[in-house]
Amino acid sequence: MTIPSPLDRGTYPAAQARAYGGEPRGAERFPGDADHGRAADGSGEERGRDARAAAGPAAELGPGRAVLAFDVGGTDIKSALFDETGAALGLRRTPTPPPGPDLPERLIARLLDLAAQLRAEHPDVEPAAVGLVVPGIVDEESGIGVFASNMGWRNAPIRALAEAAFGLPVAFGHDVGGGGLAEHELGGARGYDDVVVLIIGTGIAGVLLLDGRIHTAGGFAGEIGHSPVADEPVCACGARGCLEAIASAGAIARRYTERSGSPVDGAKEVIARAAAGDRIAAQVWDEALHALTLSIAQLTAVLAPQAVVIGGGLSRAGGALFDELRARLEARLSFHRIPDLVPAQLRGNAGILGAALRARSLE
Ligand SMILES: [Zn+2]
Repeated sequence: MTIPSPLDRGTYPAAQARAYGGEPRGAERFPGDADHGRAADGSGEERGRDARAAAGPAAELGPGRAVLAFDVGGTDIKSALFDETGAALGLRRTPTPPPGPDLPERLIARLLDLAAQLRAEHPDVEPAAVGLVVPGIVDEESGIGVFASNMGWRNAPIRALAEAAFGLPVAFGHDVGGGGLAEHELGGARGYDDVVVLIIGTGIAGVLLLDGRIHTAGGFAGEIGHSPVADEPVCACGARGCLEAIASAGAIARRYTERSGSPVDGAKEVIARAAAGDRIAAQVWDEALHALTLSIAQLTAVLAPQAVVIGGGLSRAGGALFDELRARLEARLSFHRIPDLVPAQLRGNAGILGAALRARSLE
């Protein structure tokens, strides 16, 4: 596979756009209702906001095979042993080995250590498979980590290395894609066959679920954060006017500080200042909403998703984001089917739940 030249830049942010942040969780079980809330009869009428409201809060993984799951990020690794009830045993966060030419090998060795600890703590649980998600451009078909700026690898045969080390089948995928899958199975995207998951944090990452399946295109699909919506500013990826350079939580805070000279504690503060009458804050926030509206309008016209599920730090702006976007989409579009705009539910655990779901899906 050839890599497009923009990816040669060390600052390419796709890998950093991994925005399923969140606090480490000490509890061994995820919060929420054990009822996964799918419509029992699977009828189309059950889709939509009403059915999803009735489904209750985000569910646990639920019953199935015991699996090991790893969500590898640029700074830390989340690991857990999921038992047959779906409880995440020993869920922990540990540092990612430092970048270097042999990082794939050192990473797999670290994962083996973590697995040995988890299995020693829970000797009665016998994992049948491993789920592993990583950042960057990931070719899930061939099991290759194509590129990740924060991991420093290119065309790394991660799945083959992991299978050889673990002696178990390994489901390998993209971290944000795994998070999107988890939102689809267990979280905010439940009940929708055609849905876009947008994670708006430091960057903007996207997952396209079409007909209930993730559309990956060899790892290159879903880069909604790097779709152009304006002629400026220049994005860290090298292109001009990318969505995430205007509308990510990171960009909102940065653009406000650039124009006002006043530092802020993130996008949330900019939104609060805008509501309080700060003209510069209102302008930055308006530009972000405008860019997001254009991007979602394009997605609506081209893919017609039933819903756009929004997670990441910016999604916690609540009505200031969701109500504004809904009103602007209605004003912008005509005959189009306006998607439901719904908050993501799994926050920091979406990636590891996605890894576990993938491992369970292996035969
Ligand atoms: Zn870009």
